[in-house]
Amino acid sequence: MARMTLHDTLLDRARTALDACGAALPEGTGWTARSPIDGSSLLEMKAHTAADVEAAIGTAHAAFLQWRTVPAPVRGNLVKRYGRLLEEHKEQLADLVTIEVGKIRSEALGEIQEMIDICEFALGLSRQLEGRTMPSERPGHRLMETWHPAGVVAVISAFNFPAAVWSWNTALALVCGDSVIWKPSELTPLTSLACAALLDRAIAETGAPVGLHQLLLADRDDSAALLDDKRVAVVSATGSERMGAQVGPRVAARFGKAILELGGNNAAIVAPSADLDLALRGIVFAAAGTAGQRCTSMRRVVAHTSVADQLVERIARAYSGLPVGNPFDDGTLVGPLINAAAYERMQASIARAVEAGGVLVAGGERVEVSGPDSYYVRPAIVRMPAQSDVVREETFAPLLYVMTYDGLDDAIAIHNDVPQGLSSSIFTLDQREAETFMSAAGSDCGIVNVNIGTSGAEIGGAFGGETTTGGGRESGSDAWRGYMRRATNTINYSDQLPLAQGVNFG
Ligand code: NAD
Repeated sequence: MARMTLHDTLLDRARTALDACGAALPEGTGWTARSPIDGSSLLEMKAHTAADVEAAIGTAHAAFLQWRTVPAPVRGNLVKRYGRLLEEHKEQLADLVTIEVGKIRSEALGEIQEMIDICEFALGLSRQLEGRTMPSERPGHRLMETWHPAGVVAVISAFNFPAAVWSWNTALALVCGDSVIWKPSELTPLTSLACAALLDRAIAETGAPVGLHQLLLADRDDSAALLDDKRVAVVSATGSERMGAQVGPRVAARFGKAILELGGNNAAIVAPSADLDLALRGIVFAAAGTAGQRCTSMRRVVAHTSVADQLVERIARAYSGLPVGNPFDDGTLVGPLINAAAYERMQASIARAVEAGGVLVAGGERVEVSGPDSYYVRPAIVRMPAQSDVVREETFAPLLYVMTYDGLDDAIAIHNDVPQGLSSSIFTLDQREAETFMSAAGSDCGIVNVNIGTSGAEIGGAFGGETTTGGGRESGSDAWRGYMRRATNTINYSDQLPLAQGVNFG
């Protein structure tokens, strides 16, 4: 019997996972699924057209009009059922994430676990979509807020979290009474087909309206109506700052609501008092994990001059021992980059950093794993003498810049001197330093951690960042408010009509 090639194995595993999730490929051509594990093309499918997008908006809007009248706790049944289906299909969904993104097994399973977690969160939330009651200044009056479903929510997702970020948005939007249209990354159609098929099943089994969720494998041009159509109340877009700069103004031009989750340039300050063993582990996971392809990946370390040499040496040593390879293999900690362009951008950034006076301490070279069409690299560490333009940009690869500081004020200034504001951390055992970093004069990011790295957020907190990261918040805390509209109600239960601010009108 002929030996199965890596390509055959990936194809077989992808087909098995799709079948198990009940996902059928849209028949036709125009869209290709590929795997960064060996760089091969796996499956062809039909790309949706602008007309399909137009039709999907109409169907989703009709479904919304029904769904918004279903009581929120009853809507919770849908995410409850979906969470169970995710638990049952966790292995297969994780397979698809590994095949399309190259995440190692444990991280791919973690991504699906995050989906299960948000379904549980959303189920609880379905009984807690609360509004406030405020004292009215007028006698015999009551003032309160009510929250209503917003409408159709378009979710545009990035390749590196092909399932979890969509589910953060979708689970919340569904209990909030919205319908959802999903435009996934061009790089991850199979994962989205499987996630959507399971959600369709949950919709059918719980009697929710047909068309409540729709998946569109349409490119950015053909899906433009999602940005422009007034029936799409909220556009939640995750991706690069470049994408946000295009999507944000376009949605704003029609006064639509955008939730933008864009690039990060995340750093850790390592103080003299830091537990260096802890810092080392936190930095290596955040900088090299997921092959540096998380929005929260650590891209910069700002280390005190007293610890910098030792820290750099230890990171370099840890990097040299990190197993780089096929993400399905036990023991692999660093999988492939998504494609050739990502590899070229990493090399270009290293060259620019060296030109700006940086020293490449370790890594950056390609590692041969499975042929010329796949791109595996050893994570790189570059010591930078000072800030420079290349450090201010997000390079979506395992490339870590290390800079030094003498006083905490300098460290915070260096830390904040980038356009992005997603995630940040400080390693210190000095409470004054930790509190200063978390204070208004400290980190300017949406996520501010102490003694853990920049990546690996839990779903309970609101996730997102400031400045060019886009300002959006998703997932936990009160992020649900982004998927609803607020009404302020004043109720007069007296027989008088007093006016606010003491105005007298005859
Ligand atoms: P990308 O910007 O290339 O694409 C993201 C998505 O936006 C894709 O679905 C793409 O088709 C779509 N898109 C791009 N331009 C568009 C346009 N003009 N109109 C409509 N849709 C458009 O990003 P990527 O390479 O897939 O993902 C990596 C980037 O995403 C990184 O910058 C990373 O930091 C960021 N990211 C951010 C978060 C976050 O929560 N802040 C999470 C994950 C990824």
